[in-house]
Amino acid sequence: MTIGILAALREEASHLLADLEPGGRRTRIALRDYTSGTIHGHDCVIVLARIGKVAAATTATALIEHFGVDRLIFTGVAGGVAPGLRIGDVVIADTLVQHDLDARPFFPRHEIPLLDTSHCAADPDLTGRLETAAQAFLDGTIWQRIGPDVRRQFDLVQPRVHRGLIASGDQFIGSATGVRALREALPDALAVEMEGAAVAQVCHEYGIPFAVMRTVSDTADDQAHRDFPAFLGQVASHYAHGILQCLFEAGIPPAGPARTDPQPPLNAPGLKARAT
Ligand code: SAH
Repeated sequence: MTIGILAALREEASHLLADLEPGGRRTRIALRDYTSGTIHGHDCVIVLARIGKVAAATTATALIEHFGVDRLIFTGVAGGVAPGLRIGDVVIADTLVQHDLDARPFFPRHEIPLLDTSHCAADPDLTGRLETAAQAFLDGTIWQRIGPDVRRQFDLVQPRVHRGLIASGDQFIGSATGVRALREALPDALAVEMEGAAVAQVCHEYGIPFAVMRTVSDTADDQAHRDFPAFLGQVASHYAHGILQCLFEAGIPPAGPARTDPQPPLNAPGLKARAT
């Protein structure tokens, strides 16, 4: 079993790369460096996906096609949109949706054309393990990694783990108007980011189990850009590292048998009728 780990930003990948044994083997494909090695006995490939849905989808596809990964984990930061979410909380995706996908009037808003769905579900087993790992990190080593000054700077009181819907799109949401529109369109969304649902679609199409974890870096409002780089370096990178360490220490069993129910062909009569 090989696990692909995608990070959206450099700061998030840096600590993880240092854990790879024996030092990591680098392969360069399409402007990205894929580093292979083992973490706690698990074969892994770690890559910086860069920002946005196309970047994330391309990277996920390369992980599957070139490196044969059979599990995929995305780690990154996100804007918290549900009331009660605080900076420093963790959101684990149950399902993901592309909030900027809109092919009306041919398909309902958010539906992925010819796939007959708008929401892609994360793998329940891997997601459950990631949630347990996130809780273990928040109950465990978090304050050994993040000192009191940084804790005060970002007002990290008692970070919590949430599980639910993540919305992705090729926009940084950083205004009260933007976050309001998103809440109206997708009232269940917990967080917004720019990659997760694209990875989810690729994994859905390939039948690869995946999970997405996001540290809340902002609340997608007018303050969203404030202290963003500092948060990445001083908080989010430790979360990504600490949570994945807990995940790998607990162990990830091999993936089950490959999917035997292929997706319906894209020219299935029902889909064709709706697309025209
Ligand atoms: N300042 C960064 C760019 C950040 S873009 C740089 O210079 O590299 C935002 C990244 O964080 C994306 O990867 C996205 O997935 C996530 N993100 C965090 N908050 C977000 C928000 N409010 N809206 C959209 N994406 C957000």
